[in-house]
Amino acid sequence: MTGSSFIQAEYIWMDGTVPTQKLRSKTKIIKPKGKAVELSDFGDWSFDGSSTNQATGHDSDCILKPVAFVKDPIRGDNNVLVLCEVYNPDGVTPHKTNTRAELRRVLESGAQKEDPWFGFEQEYTLMDGMRPLGFPENGYPAPQGPYYCGVGADEVFGREVVEAHTQCLLDAELMIYGTNAEVLPGQWEFQIGYRGEPNEKADALTISDHMWFARWLLYRVGEEFGVAATLHPKPVRGDWNGTGMHTNFSTNSMRDPSKGKSAIESAIKKLGERHEEHIGVYGADLSLRLTGLHETCSIHEFRSGVADRGSSIRIPRPVANKGYGYLEDRRPGANADPYQVASRLLQTILDIK
Ligand code: ADP
Ligand code: MN
Ligand code: MN
Ligand code: MN
Repeated sequence: MTGSSFIQAEYIWMDGTVPTQKLRSKTKIIKPKGKAVELSDFGDWSFDGSSTNQATGHDSDCILKPVAFVKDPIRGDNNVLVLCEVYNPDGVTPHKTNTRAELRRVLESGAQKEDPWFGFEQEYTLMDGMRPLGFPENGYPAPQGPYYCGVGADEVFGREVVEAHTQCLLDAELMIYGTNAEVLPGQWEFQIGYRGEPNEKADALTISDHMWFARWLLYRVGEEFGVAATLHPKPVRGDWNGTGMHTNFSTNSMRDPSKGKSAIESAIKKLGERHEEHIGVYGADLSLRLTGLHETCSIHEFRSGVADRGSSIRIPRPVANKGYGYLEDRRPGANADPYQVASRLLQTILDIK
């Protein structure tokens, strides 16, 4: 039955878990003021920060400030998902775990002028208890090779989850670009970012927000199937691919046919000079993934190359052919925070403090 003027708003936020922040959410019943739901319909809300590693028990009320909302594809009707920034109990200063506030600051400090575009490739692994889907109870499946972009029940595991998740992202009108089965059994990828034709775009904050909505929906959809997703960068040790969050990036200058080539070269030079600072915010346990094997460059090296999947920064072949476009930073792990990755890239490439 429709017609109820009350809706469910799922308030979603990043917690204070170390070393990798997790998602939390709780439901608020809202009565939108007008016909169409607006951000101002969602008031601030407090939560128990002592249960999320964001406060002590003595002064535990942290504040959720709604910053973006999309349709809730799970509950349907007029229900919504509301992404929130976490503020200190004073309600005025961003909490130290609020990495979105830092990206806002970087964009306002000049980065937005270069109209930066981001495209994140989010890899993840669907798990059956402690094992990736497709791994037998004992031992290992056949060596990797046929699983990437595979088809067939012996090569592809969890497609029903992926199909449901993808439809949810479309229903929520997120900027999804595509999906594919990955190299490790049970491992998949979706991309969030600029879309091809027609050239639909969104700013860096929106793209990063959509990554967090998409992650929340991945876990939520997994509940329906009794399958948990992990973003761990190396879910299986040994001769198995790790899990990354390749980050495609461009600025106005890099997309400009007359100066794109030199802008990309200058960006890569700056990235090389700040390799350690980038590794510092590219996700926990990254050294397990960046070994120099399995389509990665060693964490101790920095290399760039055209179409080279063993490099830190890859210049896609079509970009090299045209002489302008974007670059791919292959270093971020799947568990990296898009806000922090975006902030770091903008600071390094656009010389922002
Ligand atoms: P790969 O070949 O590395 O697997 P994908 O096809 O998975 O690449 O993902 C490509 C990503 O690059 C998408 O997220 C897309 O939005 C992004 N992208 C494409 N063009 C640009 C651009 N000019 N600037 C930034 N990102 C871009
Ligand atoms: Mn990809
Ligand atoms: Mn991939
Ligand atoms: Mn890639």
